[in-house]
Amino acid sequence: MNVLLVYAHPEPRSLNGSLKDFSVKRLEDAGHVVQVSDLYAMNWKASLDADDSMDRPTRQSGMRFDPALDSRHAFENGLQSRDIALEQEKLIWADALILQFPLWWFSMPAILKGWVERVYAYGFAYGVGEHSDARWGDRYGEGTLAGKRAMLIVTAGGWESHYGPRGINGPMDDILFPIQHGILYYPGFDVLPPYVVYRTGRIDEAKFSGICDSLGQRLDALWKTAPIPFRPQNAGEYEIPELTLRADISPEQSGFAAHIA
Ligand code: FAD
Repeated sequence: MNVLLVYAHPEPRSLNGSLKDFSVKRLEDAGHVVQVSDLYAMNWKASLDADDSMDRPTRQSGMRFDPALDSRHAFENGLQSRDIALEQEKLIWADALILQFPLWWFSMPAILKGWVERVYAYGFAYGVGEHSDARWGDRYGEGTLAGKRAMLIVTAGGWESHYGPRGINGPMDDILFPIQHGILYYPGFDVLPPYVVYRTGRIDEAKFSGICDSLGQRLDALWKTAPIPFRPQNAGEYEIPELTLRADISPEQSGFAAHIA
């Protein structure tokens, strides 16, 4: 199988650097082909702007830059920046995507968010399929990346209890929902439960070895682990066109949890 690991940490000698090296070796030893997009090492351009389209000079005659429509124009006409097109080719090539990052301010580092914003072009990751009064496109379980698997590897300074059901930071599942549901499930990925390392300030050789053991088991099970059962948009569970969950489905649930079967 082909695995794309998109990795966002500025220091190769960090915990994240070690876990990235471990993951690549574990997957390759199991016979998988791995490509790594090491965003800091690539000096990845994080900001989405008018330079992302190669025909910008011909579109400078007073036309305003429209982030979505210019993205669609560049995608449909083969005018995207080469760095964007290359990452899209890697996503098409991959059977599984791993996003690995330290939790920074309750989310992914800005460089990784910028990878998503630029690589997820209009027509590639959104704006896919029929859009009408009866259908809001191919997304949430359908789309360009359907049939592929995705998983997060996240490290966090806080304790596991801080991210528990009543923990001060809010549940980790809620914090990761915009990434797992909004970024990965949206364009079609089957999203596996995340692998999270907590309390990173207290890691010694013994703890590191235990982390490698459990992470290794998750990587070995990449193709058999059951995905998070997010509800597909186009399978009748949502009212059309409001796209609210039908009143008779999990009536006691609201918020993020309602979208998990
Ligand atoms: P490192 O600092 O590189 O390492 C952590 C520990 O692992 C060190 O003790 C190191 O000695 C040890 N280690 C590293 N490699 C090895 C190895 N090969 N063998 C054995 N031991 C090793 N945390 C939260 O919980 N929530 C937040 O919202 C949050 N926001 C943050 C925002 C910013 C801007 C920053 C800088 C940090 C934030 N943190 C937050 C903390 C952050 O999540 C952690 O600092 C990060 O996850 C640690 O990962 P690292 O790769 O940088 O670890």
